[in-house]
Order: sequence, then structure tokens, then C-alpha cells
Amino acid sequence: MELTITAKIQLVATEEQKKLLSETMTAYRNSCNYVSDYVFSNHDYKQFSVQKAVYKQVRSLYKIGSQMTCSVIKTVLARYRTIKSSGLNGIKPSFKLPQYDLVWNRDYSLNKNVFSVNTLEGRIKVPYYSKGMEQYFDKDKYTFGTSKLVCKKDKYFLHIPVTFEVPDCNDSEIQNVVGVDRGINFIITTYDSNGKSGFVSGRAIKHRRAKYANMRKELQIRKTSSSRRRLKRIGNRENRWMQDVNHCVSKALVLNNPKNTLFVLEDLSGVRSATERVKRKNRYVSVSWSFYDLECKIDYKSKKYGSKMIKVDPAYTSQTCPKCGHTERSNRNKKKHIFVCKNCGYTSNDDRIGAMNLHRMGIEYLVPDAVASEQASDARGPVSGPDATPRCCENNMRQNVGEPKIRKLRGSCKPTTSVIGN
Ligand SMILES: [Zn+2]
Repeated sequence: MELTITAKIQLVATEEQKKLLSETMTAYRNSCNYVSDYVFSNHDYKQFSVQKAVYKQVRSLYKIGSQMTCSVIKTVLARYRTIKSSGLNGIKPSFKLPQYDLVWNRDYSLNKNVFSVNTLEGRIKVPYYSKGMEQYFDKDKYTFGTSKLVCKKDKYFLHIPVTFEVPDCNDSEIQNVVGVDRGINFIITTYDSNGKSGFVSGRAIKHRRAKYANMRKELQIRKTSSSRRRLKRIGNRENRWMQDVNHCVSKALVLNNPKNTLFVLEDLSGVRSATERVKRKNRYVSVSWSFYDLECKIDYKSKKYGSKMIKVDPAYTSQTCPKCGHTERSNRNKKKHIFVCKNCGYTSNDDRIGAMNLHRMGIEYLVPDAVASEQASDARGPVSGPDATPRCCENNMRQNVGEPKIRKLRGSCKPTTSVIGN
């Protein structure tokens, strides 16, 4: 399987180089708009014929090289394809910000110290901050794609897609299944095939996000242009911080489990359902975005390290007893964060129940036959309520159930994972 990440590097350009890069990006942007006008009015979507029609004009109007002209046409046509594939026909894409798409080895090349780039006045060589980039220069392993030159606050960045091969993780090779429940009190609660539960406290995060929410509230009342600027800054800072937290959590989760692990998460694709799972007074935390971010990071990292992530239907994961399969809303006491099965009396932390049910669903995903036979034996046994989900891998769970010991994490904002066996 192939994985692609975006490596972002900052260029160390001199004032003169900055001016040149800026001019090139502006010319590129203007050429894009020119070509976009042509494509829109002529309904011509083919690289070859567009090139034939506009090549000369673009080159003489904007003074860009032949390679760059081809790149402009590619960029514009790609934008039209994106619009078409999202079902929004009849829209003319316009290119507002200066930009520059660079084809690897034609418009740009990169060696260990210098980034070489094509500009309006020929190639220039710009040094860059290469820390963390060294690993990608193994040409047998990594390939660079078409990168983007981006300017933010007078600083220039290069966004390079780096593609590399990762080992496939076949279902038949999976050794370990981990149910991962996302939440507010615990960012994640996990339950694995050894019957170990893990908790990552969300308390510090809750506090910090509440602090941000208060700051936002105060600024929103003011309604001045400086308060709006600050609002945006705070929002960006909060997002970066939350992404960093998610990065740490997902990395610890994936690396604390062996290769060939199946991570099972709830499919929260409906934003509403993600919000509805949260108590009203906690809604300011706006979980959906950060839940989704965490999910993407777990997915990416599990692929990178030879594991796999799946998403399952979240229905009843918090109401079903992992021991007997009895499903009832009142099994769970949301206020006390406790789950007590109304049928068999099994008691545990409610987030842990979610993780246990996800773990069970992961096993069902791997061995559907085992579940069918479980269902047959369930039918013979005592009936566990009218709306019971008879999907429980009972034998599997029975060995694994136990009480969680929740270790309190100290008030740092960077979460650490604690894995507690029982
Ligand atoms: Zn029960």
C-alpha cells in the first residue's frame, strides 16, 4: 500500500529571492485565471487542445517559461475536474492568492541543503530548514510529487507530497484487536485482546478548551477589528494545539500496540451524532472536528506501522452490556459515568464499556462465523431483553472483563497514555 504525507518546509530566502518568488507566484496566479477564462468560455477540458490554444498568449502576456505554462494548464484543468467531481458544474474557478505548483525535477529539485526552483528569471537556489526532512532523501523509498509554493506573512513554504510504500496489513494476520472509544472525560479509552484497558485523561484538555471558549466569548462581545483579528489568532492557536495533542495520543496508541493490530473506532460521520453524544454543557468543546482529526491520525499512523483501522456503526455501543449483550438505555448512568447492566449486574466505567463493545465488534469483523455460532448459542440461552443486540462474542469477553483502575494523569496539557491491566 502507498501512503502520502505532505512535508512542509520553510525556505530561507533573501529579500531579493523573496521578491522574485513573489513575482513568479503572481504571474502564475494571473496565468491560471487567464487559462481558466479560456476553459470556461470554450468548454475545452483537454490538456493538448488548451495548450495549443493559449500557450503563446500566456507566455507572452505573463512572461513565464514553457514548463511553467504547461504546469498552469494542468493546475487549472485539475481544478475543473475537482469541481466536476463534486457535482458543481458551471462554476468558473478563480485563483485569488498568488501560488505556484512545481513539478518535481522540472520546476524544482531538492538536495540536502538547497532547494532549486524555476522563476521568471531562471533558476534560483534557496536554502531551507531541513530538520526532519533528511529521512525523505532515500530515493528508493520516497518519491516527491508536485509541490506547492505558499507564502504566509512574508515567509515562504514549500508543501511537498511525499509518497512511500508501507506493508499491507491483511485481516488474516491480525493478532490484536483494540476498541478505541473517543470522548470528553477521556480522550480515548481502549480495550485490547489481552483484556487491558487504557485511559487517556481529557481533563486538562477540557479545561484548556474552556479557557479558550471564555476568551472567545469576551472578544466576540467587543466586535472591533482588532478583536476579530485576535479571535482568529486564538482559533488558529487552539487548533494547532489540539492537533498536537491528537498527534501525541494517536502516536502513543499505535506504538504501544504491536504490528498487525486492528483498531476499531466508532463511525461518527454524522456530525450531529458526534455532538449529541456529549452533554449540553460540554458542547462548547465542539468535539466533532477534533474527533475527526484524531481518527485521521490514527488511520494514517496505523497504516504506517503495519496495522489497520476500521470504523463501525456506533449504535448501542454505550448501552450494550459486553458480558451478556443486554441493551438498554438505562444501563448507563451518564452523570456518574457508570454502567450497570440491568440484566446481569455487570458494572464498569461507561467509557470502558464503549471500548469493550468496539473490541467485540472488531472481533466480529474478523470472524463473522464465530459470531453466527455465538448467536445460535445465545438463542438457546436466556433471552436478554427485547432489544438486545445478539452480537456479543461472549466467551471472548468473559475472560477479559474486569474493573478498570483509572490512574489520574497529572494536570499537564500533553496527555500521556497509561495502560492498566487487570
Ligand atoms: Zn449484562
